Amino acid sequence: QTPSNTFFIEEEDVKKTIASRSKFAHKGNFGHALLIAGSFGKMGAAVLASRSCLRAGVGLLTTHIPRLGYSIIQTAVPEAMTSIDQHDAIFTEFPDLSAFSAIGVGPGIDKKRNSQKALCELLEKAKVPLVIDADGLNILSENSEWLQKLPGKSILTPHPGEFKRLVGNSSNSYERIQQQKEFAQKYHTIVILKGAYTVIATPNGQLFFNSTGNPGMATAGSGDTLTGILLGLLAQGISSEAAAIAGVYLHGLAGDLAAREKSEPALIAGDITDYLGKAFIELN
Ligand code: AMP
Ligand code: MG
Repeated sequence: QTPSNTFFIEEEDVKKTIASRSKFAHKGNFGHALLIAGSFGKMGAAVLASRSCLRAGVGLLTTHIPRLGYSIIQTAVPEAMTSIDQHDAIFTEFPDLSAFSAIGVGPGIDKKRNSQKALCELLEKAKVPLVIDADGLNILSENSEWLQKLPGKSILTPHPGEFKRLVGNSSNSYERIQQQKEFAQKYHTIVILKGAYTVIATPNGQLFFNSTGNPGMATAGSGDTLTGILLGLLAQGISSEAAAIAGVYLHGLAGDLAAREKSEPALIAGDITDYLGKAFIELN
C-alpha cells in the first residue's frame, strides 16, 4: 500500500463538492432520485432514507414502496412522490427509469424471491449509478454472479456483517481493507465499509478514511440515513466518488452535531437527518 493511494477525508475535500445554489435555481437543477425501500414491518427504513435524501438537497424524490406502505410514506414524508408496487408487502417491480438521475435500493426491502428477481432486472436496466444497501447487498451476496451487472460507479454501503457476507472472511482489519480494495477494483464500484472509521474504496484503488462520526450513531436506522444522503448527492449530478466522500463526512458531522445536543446514548437515526442542515452550515 503506497501512502499516495490513501487519504484522510478533510473538510476542504467536502466543501469543494457542495456548491452554493444559484439565486435562479429551480428544483429541476437538483436531480430526481428514485429510492426503492421498505417492506411489511420495515417501512421505517424507507421513511428515514427518504427524509435524508431530501435533506441532502435533491430536487425531486420518488420513493417506490409496496402497497401497504402508501399511507405511511405519504404521511411521514409528504415531500416525496410515490411509486406503488403491485405487491402488498415487498418490492417486486420498479417504475420506468428514464426520469431518474440516481437510484437507491435496499433499506428495509427484505430478500424474498420476487424481490431478488426485481433487483436483478434493475441491475440490467439501470443506466445511472445505484446506491445499494442493506438487503440489496444481502441479495447480491446470495447471487454474487449479479455483481457483474452493477452499473458503473455504483456505491455499495455494507456494515461489517454485510461486508463479510458479500466479500468473505478476513482475519484482521488490514486484510479486510485489502479485500475491500480488490473488490472495488474488480467490480468497478465504490465500496463504503461502514464503522467507527468508515473506509471508502474506489475502482482505481484509492482508499479514503472518514474522520467524522461517533458511537452515538451505533443505533437502528443510522445506515438508512447514509443511503439517503448518498442518493441525494448522486442524484444532483455529483460524481460517485465525490458523493461518497462528502456523504460519509456529512453523515458523521451531522451525527456529531446531534450528539452534542442530544447526547450519544439518546441519539436516534432521525436526529442525524435533522442535523444535516447544521452540518451544511458548518461547512460554510
Ligand atoms: P448500519 O449498521 O447500516 O445502520 O450503519 C451504521 C452507520 O452508523 C454507519 O454509517 C456507521 O459508520 C455509523 N456508525 C456506527 N457505529 C459508529 C461508531 N462507533 N462511530 C462512528 N460511526 C458509527
Ligand atoms: Mg444498515
